[in-house]
Amino acid sequence: MTQTPDVRSSATSSTASNYRDIVSRIKAQEQRFGRDAGSVLLLAVSKTHGADKVREAYAAGARQFGENYVQEALDKIALLAQPPDALTDISWHFIGPIQSNKTRDIAGAFDWVHSVDRLKIAQRLNDQRPADLPALNICVQVNLSNEDSKSGVALSEAAALCASIATLPRLQLRGLMAIPAPCRDHDQQRAAFQPLAALFAQLQQQYPTMDTLSIGMSDDFDAAIAEGSTMIRIGTAIFGARG
Ligand SMILES: *Cc1c(COP(=O)(O)O)cnc(C)c1O
Repeated sequence: MTQTPDVRSSATSSTASNYRDIVSRIKAQEQRFGRDAGSVLLLAVSKTHGADKVREAYAAGARQFGENYVQEALDKIALLAQPPDALTDISWHFIGPIQSNKTRDIAGAFDWVHSVDRLKIAQRLNDQRPADLPALNICVQVNLSNEDSKSGVALSEAAALCASIATLPRLQLRGLMAIPAPCRDHDQQRAAFQPLAALFAQLQQQYPTMDTLSIGMSDDFDAAIAEGSTMIRIGTAIFGARG
């Protein structure tokens, strides 16, 4: 028999070693900015990447995964739940724009939703959350004047949306999420996050369940950690460029 190159194991090492690299960069940034060790969680954004890549990141310790597209995510979640190699301790986070005809699928398959930006969607998720599952963890997505993005509630309206969500019994209000306009400068990145961090601190006084500031992606997570991020969402720097 001729030996074929083992593509699978080289792919394993790059996803897994990228994941470990980001974990150690998070540790370094926690120290640099005086954050508690372990206070920043890493969400591996696996959108457009297959179940095999999820397994590779899982092998390196990843347990939190983020997805943007409902049908792609449902297929992947089902595949990874199949015996004999079922991965049973993954938390799935929905982080993409939400159409109202997709809320039932999201409420049934995910543990978290980071992209709630209107009450109608929150109400549907609440009504459709299956009774045998715990309350669905929710972050309100805020639009930090990112002209490119139509997603997110205005900063000035975020507190009111949080107040409504806090009354819905099948949802657990956990925090705020934002995607600022891309920019390269560290200080400008920090400045963009600041109004959100201030609102987060204020809302935490009101809602004891609020513990998650979901900010920071591949190009701005240092700045996000400096501004108090508790969950960074990394795709490209773990899985490589999306095709
Ligand atoms: C795709 C995506 C990410 C990951 O972005 P990268 O730049 O690939 O790290 C994070 N958050 C959201 C909401 C996304 O849609």
